[in-house]
This record gives sequence, C-alpha cells and structure tokens, in this order.
Amino acid sequence: MKIAFYSTKPYDRIYFEPMSRERGIEIHFFEAACSVETIPLANGCDALCIFVNDYLNEAMIGQLAQMGVTAILLRCAGFNNVDIRAAAQNGIHVLRVPSYSPEAVAEFATALLLTVNRHTHRAFMRTRDFNMSINGFMGTDLHGKTAGVIGTGRIGQAMIRILKGFGMEITAYDPYPNESLGITYDTIENVFRNSDVITLHCPLTPETKHIVQAKTIELMKDGVYLINTSRGDLVRTEDLIEGLLHKKFAGVGLDVYDEEGGVFYEDRSNDIIDDENLARLSTFPNVLITSHMGFFTKEAVRAIAEVTLENADAVQKGLELKNEVLDTN
Ligand code: NAD
Repeated sequence: MKIAFYSTKPYDRIYFEPMSRERGIEIHFFEAACSVETIPLANGCDALCIFVNDYLNEAMIGQLAQMGVTAILLRCAGFNNVDIRAAAQNGIHVLRVPSYSPEAVAEFATALLLTVNRHTHRAFMRTRDFNMSINGFMGTDLHGKTAGVIGTGRIGQAMIRILKGFGMEITAYDPYPNESLGITYDTIENVFRNSDVITLHCPLTPETKHIVQAKTIELMKDGVYLINTSRGDLVRTEDLIEGLLHKKFAGVGLDVYDEEGGVFYEDRSNDIIDDENLARLSTFPNVLITSHMGFFTKEAVRAIAEVTLENADAVQKGLELKNEVLDTN
C-alpha cells in the first residue's frame, strides 16, 4: 500500500517511518497541507493520511476516486474536516483513530486551567526578568468549586477523574448520559449557569457549533473559567471577545480556534497577522492560546501511528474496518 501523507512535521516521522517499514507500507511524506492545489500529489497512491487542519470536500473526494484512492486515513479522532457522505458515495473508506490517549488531552486541559488560574506563564516571564512582583496573579482555589463538563466521552471522563482529584464538584451535560460515572447530569443551560469552570469535550457537529455564544455566555457566572480543547467552532469567537471585554471570564484557555487552519502548527512569527480575532484574543492577559497540542505526548503520538497503520492494513487485507467513520445521515 502507498500512502500520501499530508502536513508532515518532523515528529510525525518518529513513529510512522519505522512502523510503516515493519508493515511493508510505503509512505510518501509531504509537508504541504491537503488542499485543492495539493491533491495531485496523491496520484498513484492507494490512501491519503491527513490531520486536523487538512480538509477534503466533495470535489476533492471525487478527484481522489478518479485517481483510484480507496481510503482516507485520519490520524486524529475528529472527522469534521472530511465530507463523509461524499466519501461513501465514491466508495472511499474513511478511518480514524477514535482514542489514543484521552488522558493526554485531559491533562493538557488541566494544564490550561491551572495556568490561566494561577498565571504561571506570566510569572515565568516576570521572574526571568527579575521582576519578582506577584501583583495581578491572585488565583482561585479549585477545591470545592464546580466544574461543568460538556461531553462525557473518553476525554470528558478523564477530565472528570482529574477534577475530582482537586476536590471539585462535577456537573455535566451530554445527550447520552453515562450513569455509571456517578456524576450529576443537568441541562446544558444549568451547566453553563452553575459552573465555576466550563470545559468542552464534545465533538464538533451541527448541534454543537457555537455552543458557546452570546446567549450561553450570558448564562455563565461572572468570573467563570472556560477551557476548550475540542474544536474551535464550538465557540463563537466574536462573542467570546465581547464577553472578555465585559470581564465575564476570569480566564480562558484555548487549544483550538475556529480559524486555526494554516496558522496552527506553523511558524508565523515573521508574518503580519491578518486575523483580527486571533490578534485581539492574544492581547488579553487572561487568555492562553496553544496550538492544538493537547494530544502531543509520546504515548499518544505512538498510538496514533499504530492505529493509523492498523487501519491501513485492514483496508489492504480486506479485514473488518473497526475504526471506519460511516455516513449516518
Ligand atoms: P468521545 O466520542 O469519546 O466523546 C464525545 C462525547 O461528546 C460523547 O459522550 C458524546 O455523547 C458527547 N456529545 C455528542 N454531542 C454532544 C452535544 N451536543 N453536547 C454535549 N456532548 C455531546 O470523544 P473524545 O475522545 O472524548 O474527544 C472529544 C473531542 O476532543 C473530539 O471530538 C475532538 O474534537 C477533541 N480532541 C482534541 C484533541 C486535541 O489535541 N486538542 C485531541 C483529541 C480529541
């Protein structure tokens, strides 16, 4: 099997290169993102391997079918960036890595929360400059406070375990509650209303797009902390900025951003930033933005390579495709 591997970064090769050799799979690594312009690079390949900010729309999938591509291998969990229906109609399998290390993402969400709460990122900058003042760095005890968890799947559950360890009360919303977790579920409105910390762990779907927007921000407590490690489009950025300007949030941690494609994972330090919202967000002292790196641990990256190549093998050998994303609409 030959795979066209888009958006390659040096760390992708660490596990994919040796593991693909062992399996006799040939990978063509391209630094370019998958886009209309770069689709022809996949000519002669049986499959494409793409990441979170690559996309495949209907027209591109039609082109892939003509080239004889039979599988799209997502080396991530989310699949909102691929037209699943178009793939099904063209007989192309879409496979993903549903779970690699939920703890990696939950631990990172916790890091964002602790950082924006206790200002450790700013303290680091100050002490390096021998400014030992702690003015402006007062935080809040998490112990005894209420955390609202939106989405109690794999990552949400890992987050709940961690937050319970801090002695936090948990309130949660999920359209498919998991009664075995021993937590209290409530309506999404009440979760927004009653939480001191809100952490988003649901997938991006038409129902969850802009789940955080002016109306829901209005419901939240003043001084709430918001953490988003799921997908940027869960939050309407203009409304978040408005809320920040009105001092609604004590802290906001964002590992994802609605317009992150083409910016996150790239070094743009020499460029003029033409994204007004991103530029505005980065001026708030109580906002911490990271570059979609919640997954980025050795364990998770190794597991991503393993499962992606297992998925490729299954397609090649006609085995059961247990990680196939099916068109359910
Ligand atoms: P999961 O499928 O195990 O859990 C998702 C949960 O969300 C499920 O329980 C589902 O019932 C629930 N859900 C569905 N619709 C909902 C809605 N309208 N409101 C609230 N909950 C809803 O997924 P997971 O492994 O826990 O991953 C969650 C998300 O995290 C992924 O979809 C992905 O977007 C994101 N993610 C981010 C990173 C990162 O590096 N930052 C890495 C992996 C995953």
